[in-house]
Amino acid sequence: MPTYKAPVEDVQFLLNDVFHMERYGNMPGFSDASPDVVAAILEEAAKFSEEVLAPLNRVGDIEGCKRNADGSVTTPKGFKEAYRQLVEGGWVGISVPTEFGGQGLPATMTMIVNEFLISSNMAFAMYPGLTQGAIAALLHHATPEQKKTYLPKMTTGAWTGTMNLTEPHCGTDLGLLRSKAVPQADGSYKITGTKIFISSGEHDLAENVIHLVLARIEGAPEGVKGISLFIVPKFFPNADGSVGARNGVMCGSIEHKMGIHGNSTCVMNFDGATGWLMGEANKGLNAMFTMMNEARLAVGMQGLAQSEVAYQNAAIYARERLQGRSISGVKAPDKPADPIIVHPDIRRLLLSIRSFNEAARALVLWTALKGDVQHRSEDQKARQAAEDHMGLMTPVIKGVLTDTGFSNTVLAQQVFGGHGYIGEHGMEQFVRDARIAMIYEGANGIQALDLVGRKLGRDGGRAITAFFKEVSDYVKEHSSDETMKPYVAPLGEALAQLQQATMWFMQNAMKKPDNAGAGSNDYMHLFGLVALAYMWAQMAKAAQDKLKNGANGSTERMKAKLVTGRFFMERVLPETAAHLKRIQTGADTLMELAAEAF
Ligand SMILES: Cc1cc2nc3c(=O)[nH]c(=O)nc-3n(C[C@H](O)[C@H](O)[C@H](O)COP(=O)(O)OP(=O)(O)OC[C@H]3O[C@@H](n4cnc5c(N)ncnc54)[C@H](O)[C@@H]3O)c2cc1C
Repeated sequence: MPTYKAPVEDVQFLLNDVFHMERYGNMPGFSDASPDVVAAILEEAAKFSEEVLAPLNRVGDIEGCKRNADGSVTTPKGFKEAYRQLVEGGWVGISVPTEFGGQGLPATMTMIVNEFLISSNMAFAMYPGLTQGAIAALLHHATPEQKKTYLPKMTTGAWTGTMNLTEPHCGTDLGLLRSKAVPQADGSYKITGTKIFISSGEHDLAENVIHLVLARIEGAPEGVKGISLFIVPKFFPNADGSVGARNGVMCGSIEHKMGIHGNSTCVMNFDGATGWLMGEANKGLNAMFTMMNEARLAVGMQGLAQSEVAYQNAAIYARERLQGRSISGVKAPDKPADPIIVHPDIRRLLLSIRSFNEAARALVLWTALKGDVQHRSEDQKARQAAEDHMGLMTPVIKGVLTDTGFSNTVLAQQVFGGHGYIGEHGMEQFVRDARIAMIYEGANGIQALDLVGRKLGRDGGRAITAFFKEVSDYVKEHSSDETMKPYVAPLGEALAQLQQATMWFMQNAMKKPDNAGAGSNDYMHLFGLVALAYMWAQMAKAAQDKLKNGANGSTERMKAKLVTGRFFMERVLPETAAHLKRIQTGADTLMELAAEAF
């Protein structure tokens, strides 16, 4: 049975020593997030994840969700009780404004807590996760009346949320969407259509499910310009906050799938269901993007979270499993064999994962703090810069963290040899669960295209220019510091390669768009590596400063940080050269074969 320990100390190092959370103290919610409050939240979230959710992870995988004859869905044993505890703990709404019953804390805190929840039980964490995404969309686009009706209930978790985009013939290309909305005399709409793959679409955890549904109002234009967003509750809300009659939306079936068995993936049939427009007619995709962007970051977090829990278990196993002798001489003469942690190749596997996890966590927290600046700062310039950062980093976090997160679960499984392939140790579940994160919320190929095709050129390249300047200034500032050279010298080289790749697109992708499509995946990963290396440089600096100042009991952890960071710079970052080379070969060979030749 796998174990999980929430990385509380690592999070505190990032918040206090790397990103200096106290600097954000003048923004709403941050003054309430004093170090003591943060420590208490982390401790409680860790306890809930480790003690309540982690033990249910395997149960959820084996049992899965079941659809009953009446269309209701039963979640695995123990999920209901755990969900009750989640609601009691107030975990869904920690960052929701207080006027809607939340705690108003920084959204960064929600991100941190979500890592713990997802590592311990990804399938379970999706129920509150989707609710948080729906809350974000409501906060930005709903009418005051709609907010009053839905937000307080969703903030506590009494009601959950879903996002309904996908239809059988319409996945990535939402312009093909057919679900229909017919206006009614009372201002509501009758929604008809079939949605597939709807996560948490139906379940027994909460008393109501609030579906956010994309549909086309009768007579609306074809394509993405004719799509609107609707609120469709499973049960109609009464004025007193209780639930009333059942609406015309039912779960037709649930999917049998590779992983996340504890989350219900539903076919949802809307049969003249009553819905209410949210935001402007025909601008539904814009409104849904608020939820999608939120969800993309959360899905990126799923990649990191699965990589983290897989790493932890692989590290424990590598210290215990005895096989072979160290090639540099026996290390455990009292034992029949050395533990496999002595073998360089096992260390390569472990450090590859760990050096990614620690930097990825930093990248997510850095971006989450920018998200708070975007929504909470009074400084217009800072808000704009933060918005630019979010736009640029969202596809990188979604794409890179889930691609690498998945491959890391495979590396961790490798540490177990055959014992990683069988069910007993839980490693194969991490692999299966992590796989979906590369696919949903816009498959990773689409994230890469979003980065190259939309985000690079947006506002005359303002976001990417700001990122280049920030990293390049950092490299210059620390390049004469001998202790920082192992970090900033490779970072500088990798940044130059990223700049070359960006320039190559500017010169070669306009006249031949396939060049952009052919290099986009490499570019996204090249970008991700540079961003992660930038995180490592900052973490190395903070660790060195901490060691100089006595490190307060964290000396060994800080020393390990510096080694892990060096590993990243020496052995992971050089992949940037291969990415650049592939980008520069362009699309010719890739596009040469006729479709029939495949
Ligand atoms: C377990 C699970 C849960 C899900 N949860 C939800 C949910 O809650 N709500 C919801 O609405 N949907 C959900 N989805 C749907 C998911 O978001 C889609 O599967 C995903 O967006 C891809 O759509 P598709 O499967 O139709 O693939 P397609 O769109 O058919 O894409 C197939 C492949 O082609 C590539 N591709 C497509 N178009 C292009 C292009 N223009 N350029 C380059 N490459 C392209 C894609 O990257 C992909 O690799 C879920 C799916 C699963 C499996």
